[in-house]
Amino acid sequence: MKAVAVTPGTPNSVHLKEIEKPTLDQVAGGLGVLVRVLKVGVDATDREINDALYGNAPEGDGHLVIGHESFGVVEAVGEHVKRVKVGDYVTATVRRPGGSIYDLIGTNDMTSEEEYYERGINLRHGYLTEYFVEEAEYIVRVPMGLKHLHVLMEPMSCAAKAVHQAYEAQQRMKVWRPQVAYVLGAGQIGLLTTLVLKLRGLEVYTLARGEAPNLKSEIVKGLEATYISTRETSWDDLVKQTGKPDLIVDATGSSRLAFEAMEHLGLNGVLVWTGITGGDNKSEVPTDKINLQWVLGNKLLLGSVNANRHHFEMGIKDLALGEMMYPEVLGKILTNPVDGLENYAEMMRLLVEDKDALKVFVNVADE
Ligand SMILES: [Zn+2]
Repeated sequence: MKAVAVTPGTPNSVHLKEIEKPTLDQVAGGLGVLVRVLKVGVDATDREINDALYGNAPEGDGHLVIGHESFGVVEAVGEHVKRVKVGDYVTATVRRPGGSIYDLIGTNDMTSEEEYYERGINLRHGYLTEYFVEEAEYIVRVPMGLKHLHVLMEPMSCAAKAVHQAYEAQQRMKVWRPQVAYVLGAGQIGLLTTLVLKLRGLEVYTLARGEAPNLKSEIVKGLEATYISTRETSWDDLVKQTGKPDLIVDATGSSRLAFEAMEHLGLNGVLVWTGITGGDNKSEVPTDKINLQWVLGNKLLLGSVNANRHHFEMGIKDLALGEMMYPEVLGKILTNPVDGLENYAEMMRLLVEDKDALKVFVNVADE
């Protein structure tokens, strides 16, 4: 069967590769699930792996099959699988356990080991292929009524985790009833985070560069949040208008903006960083001022990456509720389909060149 792979360590090595179809008995104990892949989403991670910035092949292999955002249909299950059945729509989590205590209790996303295992990213093959086999533990069912949002399940799990972590951490406050949230960035994670926060009842301001109207502003408006173009409105003006936010989630991928946000967070607030910045940028920050404000304001900075099964399930519930509250808005994120694994070059081109692409995904097979 066909797969899209890279040769880790070699820039721009993305290619089509013939690999063997996996079988259920690759998972012990009758707990395997064979999934026929329908669609796979790609993002900056796949681009950076193709740039050889990171990513490693599984031991013994010279190639890494990429793609970590899966959507497919169950084709066969091992005899002890109870969670899903043949014909169910499913997605799969990304990180696999290492040996730390956090891995052993199902929270692989919080591993305390430096080396981690992620399908399509590090030391495990990904989903940009025709079939994959996985242990039922890592397979998450997608409701029939959400199949039109297919590859959004994985990015949504990251948004769900980021917000959930903020609430968990804020239990230090005994009472925390945030009113105002800023989301920095209106890419897929920023938009999905906007939804999660709206569903928690917050007043949400989503900040992005472009001037409205544009697709991002249309989606933000559709979610009944407020779109702010940073070209038109400065931080100071926005804070004057809304009061200092209780929660800021950065999803820009710009470390400069992630630090800038520190100057505007409200008292007892939490700033969550979700952007992965692989570069080497430096910028000047008013350290005395921030240090003082953060100590006197009991403020918290939180990094959030990846997601475990629980966050996938939370995210899927939020997508379902989101579709009921704001019908047909979320599907607008799915901007750029590519037909067939053999069109991997077009997929990579869209990731590199099309700055307006909110979501590039590959239609691997029809149902
Ligand atoms: Zn992703």
